[in-house]
Amino acid sequence: MFLDIRRTLWLAVLGIFFIAPSQVTLAGEGLRVVTTTKTFASLVEAVGGNHVKVDYVAPPNQNVHFIQPRPSDILRLSKADLFVHAGLDLELWRYPLAEASGRPEFLPGGERELGLSQGIHLLEVPSETLSRSQGDIHIYGNPHYWLNPENGRVMARTIFDKLVQITPEYEPDFRANLNQFLEKLDSKIAAWKRDVQDLAGVTVVAYHNSWSYLAQFGGFEIAGFVEPKPGIPPTPRHVERLLGIMQEKGVKLILKETYFEDRTPKKLAQKTGAHILTMAHGVGNMKGVEDYVSIFDYNFSHFKKAMAEIQGGTR
Ligand SMILES: [Zn+2]
Repeated sequence: MFLDIRRTLWLAVLGIFFIAPSQVTLAGEGLRVVTTTKTFASLVEAVGGNHVKVDYVAPPNQNVHFIQPRPSDILRLSKADLFVHAGLDLELWRYPLAEASGRPEFLPGGERELGLSQGIHLLEVPSETLSRSQGDIHIYGNPHYWLNPENGRVMARTIFDKLVQITPEYEPDFRANLNQFLEKLDSKIAAWKRDVQDLAGVTVVAYHNSWSYLAQFGGFEIAGFVEPKPGIPPTPRHVERLLGIMQEKGVKLILKETYFEDRTPKKLAQKTGAHILTMAHGVGNMKGVEDYVSIFDYNFSHFKKAMAEIQGGTR
């Protein structure tokens, strides 16, 4: 209900800035790509190299579920050759944004929109159709799939296929870039697999349900969330219930994103002795997290450090 209202309001606001359709793919300038997040921008740059100019919409330190695109984003998208997003319901704001750009090819099923969820093995896909009337924002399964580095391979190949489809003349360059990216990612994945051996079986709680794919790779368990449902702020009753779970399971680590309040995690930490670990949710989200692989370098090194402190009894 809340999101439906939000979307309707957005359509009304964005309508003021409605942009007329424009010509696409100017020769000699390369492809102009707009992505929803800086993480996807980084992946498109890795594969597209100097044949792409990439801009992103969501400021990296804001909650990607609730972004308000600016008129400048609409203008940029109206002139773009390709619109890349997560698909699913990570960015519900992308529909009014695409509509306001005046470019039907960026709407669902359009030939110049690319959802990166294709080919990804999704987690937590509901067995029955959910409605948004309860405020739920993960109704097609968990949309934070870029946080398993194995999915980086799939996303890079999806981007490669689309770039080749639009500009087949650059295929050799795109292929060389793709291979270079995959080689680096594969060697990093091997190193991270050694890193995460210590995390297997560790139980944590998290603020939002963002970390299932990282847990899938890292082998740790998430026992509960500060949010009662994805996108719904915590209530005192829910926090009490979560406290019970943490005490029962001996949870000593709370994962959170940069953009959530820390009052509730601090309250939980005070009562359980748990540590709070602010994690990198995507590229640009933390100092030093400037490309796809550094998301995992950051998260696994800080996770390991926090576990060492917990096991060493320091806070
Ligand atoms: Zn989410």
